[in-house]
Amino acid sequence: MPDTYPPSNLAAIDAAHHLHPFSDMKKLNADGARIIQCGEGVYIFDDRGRKYLDGFAGLWCVNIGYGRREIAEAVARQMNELPYYNTFFGTTSTPTSLLAQKVTSHAGARFNHIFFTGSGSEANDTWFRMARVYWSAVGKPSKKIVIARKNGYHGSTVAGASLGGMKYMHEQGDLPIPGIVHIGQPYWYGEGGDLTPEEFGLKVARELEAKIDELGEENVAAFVAEPVQGAAGVIIPPETYWPEIDRICKARDILLVTDEVICGFGRLGAWFGHQHFGVEPDLAPIAKGLSSGYLPIGGVLVSDKIADVLINEVGEFNHGFTYSGHPVCAAAALENLRIIEAEGLVERVRDDIGRYFGKAWAALADHDLVGEAVSIGLMGGLQLAAEKSTRTRYEKPDQVGALVRDHALANGLVLRATGDRMLASPPLVISHAEVDEMARITKLALDAAWKELKC
Ligand code: PMP
Repeated sequence: MPDTYPPSNLAAIDAAHHLHPFSDMKKLNADGARIIQCGEGVYIFDDRGRKYLDGFAGLWCVNIGYGRREIAEAVARQMNELPYYNTFFGTTSTPTSLLAQKVTSHAGARFNHIFFTGSGSEANDTWFRMARVYWSAVGKPSKKIVIARKNGYHGSTVAGASLGGMKYMHEQGDLPIPGIVHIGQPYWYGEGGDLTPEEFGLKVARELEAKIDELGEENVAAFVAEPVQGAAGVIIPPETYWPEIDRICKARDILLVTDEVICGFGRLGAWFGHQHFGVEPDLAPIAKGLSSGYLPIGGVLVSDKIADVLINEVGEFNHGFTYSGHPVCAAAALENLRIIEAEGLVERVRDDIGRYFGKAWAALADHDLVGEAVSIGLMGGLQLAAEKSTRTRYEKPDQVGALVRDHALANGLVLRATGDRMLASPPLVISHAEVDEMARITKLALDAAWKELKC
């Protein structure tokens, strides 16, 4: 239970002064924002003491759960010692360099360097520039175009939102910027038609090859994709997809970028999503689970192939942020990674809780309202369907998803809805009993929504 309370008019203050991201502000101001007061383990509590199981880990990020005093203590120590210093002018700080070493130690032999940023969006903007700088430095300056995917998500900055393939984002602010093109996504349920998932996986992967041919390999810098699409609705590609993408990137002279902002740090039961799928990216933006969201920090894992050119050919990469490698954020991240290692959380997802969650989640596929229930590690997607056998969708997908989400919330579970898909991504420390509770409330919410939809 929270021991401090906000002023009684906080919702009114918020409505008067705070513009929220990705929110219908008129509606939010009328309803009043929910005030989240504190958290412990997988639970969050609002200002009225109501308890919710956070099935979404904040925003895919609170991997170690809420209320870890070790992080608060590490942060306090670093705050007292050195609250800030930059990494621009020949300087570093202890947690920053140690974090660079620690993160890369989990990223496989090809990755020995990281470029720090403040967020996942900044990480995407960073590799976008880095890839172009790389190709210029190796004498191929025409290689500038980046191929990304429809319905991908790579952040909200100008390059991030352009790399993303969200139409509703492109519509605001004249995006994408030139030099970014999009191919199809491996969303079999929605777009696979009569093909098997395996056939469809190959078909959409080969759109990459066709797009490279159309644009000319000499003009293409990179291909970027999330190992598993998150914001699009936890879209897990068919098994044939990633091996074919990896093959095409290697056969053609283009960089592969896996956006690990969600999939990194154990979510799929491997340190990074590309390891789970056995592919070999050249660059990998990260954030979220790096600090479990306790403080804002992100970065780009840079493979030796690129780092060697940056260091030995480019020399000075004219790019960086005031908060690149922020010492307090780095101290939080370092302690977070210590906890993930000490508690074996990545292995726990792979060998135990991911499987347990997978079974409980898959059982939801029996529900009349569910077209498919898929999961990987501790990431789950539920496709809502009007008619299961024909994969027929509801006419107003946003309304169906919101209905299920609201019923879940009313019963004490936070789930996210993206259109007619429900998204789950609980903290990696979730117990078996808490997974059972998640599944029970999700079923309750589906029952309640189904009843309303049939009325
Ligand atoms: N990439 C992916 C795959 C993401 O899911 C997100 C955030 N949800 C981002 C990038 C952007 O990260 P941030 O919100 O920290 O800028």
